Amino acid sequence: MEMKAEQAVAWVEKANALMQSHKEYLTELDQAIGDGDHGLNMSRGFQEAELKVSATDYDTAADVFKDVATVLMSKIGGASGPLYGTAFLKMSMTLKGKDPVTEANLAEAVEAALNGMKQRGKAEQGEKTMIDVWHPVADFLRNGQNVQPGKLEETAEEAMNQTKDIMATKGRAAYLQERSKGHIDPGSTSSFYLFQALADVWKKGE
Ligand code: ADP
Ligand code: MG
Repeated sequence: MEMKAEQAVAWVEKANALMQSHKEYLTELDQAIGDGDHGLNMSRGFQEAELKVSATDYDTAADVFKDVATVLMSKIGGASGPLYGTAFLKMSMTLKGKDPVTEANLAEAVEAALNGMKQRGKAEQGEKTMIDVWHPVADFLRNGQNVQPGKLEETAEEAMNQTKDIMATKGRAAYLQERSKGHIDPGSTSSFYLFQALADVWKKGE
């Protein structure tokens, strides 16, 4: 895949569509092990991000992601806003001057996003957070072999499902200790939608 500003905007649009159509489900997941606002947070944040990027002319994907970062940080309350904001900011910084963005560039950008989020949230893999999806996706992209959009989607989906068996040690769900087991993590689910949206845009560009 080669990503220009146009594909970056399409990614945000598709991600927004998925956040809107799964708003209730994200709410339910967060009601089970958090405070129930994740559906609202994601739908509001990505709605605003789409409004911004569809009304602006961009030269590069990096410029698109910079605006997305600003919107997500300012429009989403809760833990997920600064985390997703950091992810898009790090991607923007890593991709500066890269146009079009290649698959290798994208791998670097996702890796930088992951590291930024880990630093920001002080979470590691295995704590039942969105990191549990970003980590395997970053590994998959870095591996560089057999990198196809279908595999990307599969990797993210599997990782999301695996959060069900983990006991949360970060975020609100950590208060529940053992009782956090048996539920899929809401942030891992919204991260899956984000990568599903990327896979979709990628498939169309192939
Ligand atoms: P809040 O937890 O403040 O209500 P959200 O409900 O929007 O915010 O987001 C919850 C999601 O954020 C969790 O499901 C988890 O994936 C993610 N999350 C929470 N804390 C952290 C952290 N420290 N590091 C990484 N991700 C986190
Ligand atoms: Mg919440």
